[in-house]
Amino acid sequence: MTTSPSANADPNALLPDSELAFFAPLLPWQQQAWTQLTAPQNQAALPHALLAAGIEGIGKRAFIWRLVAWLLCRERHTHPLGACGVCESCDWLKSGTHPNLQVLPLHSLPMVASEEASASTAKSSKSAAKEGADSPKRTIKIDDIRQLISFVHQGSQGIRVCVFDYAEQMTIGAANALLKTLEEPQPQVHLLLLTDSPAQLLPTIKSRVQQLPLQRIPFELATGYIKAQLGEQVSDAEVAQLLSLANGAPLAAVAMASAPWYSKRKVWLTVWLALRAGKRSAMAASDYWQKELSLAEFTQLTELMLIDLNRIVLGLDSLQPDCEIAAALPAEFLPSIEALDSLAEVIAASKRAIQQNVQEKLAYDKLMQSIAQT
Ligand SMILES: [Zn+2]
Repeated sequence: MTTSPSANADPNALLPDSELAFFAPLLPWQQQAWTQLTAPQNQAALPHALLAAGIEGIGKRAFIWRLVAWLLCRERHTHPLGACGVCESCDWLKSGTHPNLQVLPLHSLPMVASEEASASTAKSSKSAAKEGADSPKRTIKIDDIRQLISFVHQGSQGIRVCVFDYAEQMTIGAANALLKTLEEPQPQVHLLLLTDSPAQLLPTIKSRVQQLPLQRIPFELATGYIKAQLGEQVSDAEVAQLLSLANGAPLAAVAMASAPWYSKRKVWLTVWLALRAGKRSAMAASDYWQKELSLAEFTQLTELMLIDLNRIVLGLDSLQPDCEIAAALPAEFLPSIEALDSLAEVIAASKRAIQQNVQEKLAYDKLMQSIAQT
């Protein structure tokens, strides 16, 4: 059967995710930041070094890839709302070979990232889990910066764009090597920095870039977006709970709702209560969970439950009213602060174990023992 796209078809509908990153619709809470940056009267004064900072899941990378495409687009002066998607530059982006774009670390480039993701899914979930924070592949080293500086100064034709993802993981040497380039704008060069941990970004870098206003997300826009992504059957209360569990980051809330571990929070609570009551052994519980979730997923689930247990012990409301944790825990059965602290330590150890690719069963058993003692 042959189909011809209708006149109203979304031109992005046929693009793979990796290409869509450059041409995706603007997230609703980024409207103002985009308009300010790209308005025709502001284009001449576009800051040469921009920083997109904030926790994971607020859409910083979506904004930056969109901005990259627009800055490079040949038709940008007549397309203030985003790259045209059809010029030579937009085609280069789609093929992942734009000569005027440099990305550090390279695997942050949407094409490479999606290829690696599918390769690691094909292998095992372990290698995907290893790609966590502080992964050595995320580090930007001094040699990377030196290469990039020669690209900045090569004086080729047209706009050139450099993206520094996980900028907080630049080594001190790399950051120092970059300072001069940040301080002396080169004509037609744009430097775009990204960080999930702005507090860890070196102050010398932070003071030389202009921060994009992407962090403040109105509650209504965030909940409206989550609802649109998850479908109308999700209640307002569920959406609000997801958003608060995700610290107000809408994309993180949507990812959490779709994660295999999120639907197992009540089971976690039941198993934990059975462990504490001595009705189940830690080994049996560990065997059970290993069939349900990977260690990375179970660690994430346990971390979320621990946040709530800490809140309840401190007399605060649970962030997950749907789990009715407080009702299941009479005051005399509350865990001690010390027990919660030592569980937090074992969770941290479990995360390190995931990165070091140690034998999953050992780390799983250890975590379960600590949960049983909490
Ligand atoms: Zn274009």
